[in-house]
Amino acid sequence: MVDLRDVHKSFGSLEVLRGVDLQVAPGEVTVVIGPSGSGKSTLLRTVNHLEKVNSGSISVDGELVGYRRIGDRLHELPEREILRQRTKIGFVFQNFNLFPHLTVRQNVTEAPLAAQRRPRAEVEELAARLLERVGLAGKAGAYPRQLSGGQQQRVAIARALALEPKVILFDEPTSALDPELVGEVLDVVKDLARSGTTMIVVTHEIGFAREVADTVVFMDEGRIVERGSPAQVLDSPRHERTRLFLSKVL
Ligand code: ATP
Ligand code: MG
Repeated sequence: MVDLRDVHKSFGSLEVLRGVDLQVAPGEVTVVIGPSGSGKSTLLRTVNHLEKVNSGSISVDGELVGYRRIGDRLHELPEREILRQRTKIGFVFQNFNLFPHLTVRQNVTEAPLAAQRRPRAEVEELAARLLERVGLAGKAGAYPRQLSGGQQQRVAIARALALEPKVILFDEPTSALDPELVGEVLDVVKDLARSGTTMIVVTHEIGFAREVADTVVFMDEGRIVERGSPAQVLDSPRHERTRLFLSKVL
């Protein structure tokens, strides 16, 4: 479903991704852990072409992201093609990033109406179903500022789901939340995992990783140092750097 091959990304002289290979099969949950600055957010951002890679390739759902191959050359896709590809790739950010001037319902219906041009009645019904699913049926008419952080993040998840994406990327979805609000957001993500949503989740919540991940990936200095089942990586890490990191976060 998601296939990264030898992805390199630099900002100026700083090489942030140093040859990342990552495959996520349909219905699987990959959790990415690693120290601050190791490249986790950059990795997610390359997957929907928010960051352009310097070399290597990324495909989602069998389609090359951001580029078209003509002969042996890659040509960047026009903006509207990139936007179309992004509708297949949900993204949930640390700071929710809701549209502040739109209601909860409008936040969820905006992209399916504008980007996918789906019929309003169908989209309204979908939004009602998704808000119900994330436990916010009663908040459809509220504005983001009237919600708690946990509620805002659940709206952001409903908004991502509304595009019926092939994969959803989560970048530390609970790290901006007060501790007592973390659980309600993780419960929604767990529910998605159980229902077979393909996801890549960057998080420091090790207990959550143990519970939902099919694969845990440990990144350090722009490389995947270690990957495996949660039991392998979290309970019997093979690399010293993984052990050191876990000893700090557990
Ligand atoms: P954290 O756990 O703190 O979120 P991270 O693993 O997500 O860290 P990234 O945000 O991917 O790390 O950043 C990796 C490195 O790339 C950092 O050194 C960061 O300063 C640098 N970096 C990220 N984005 C940019 C940018 N747009 N321009 C320049 N440098 C950047
Ligand atoms: Mg980050």
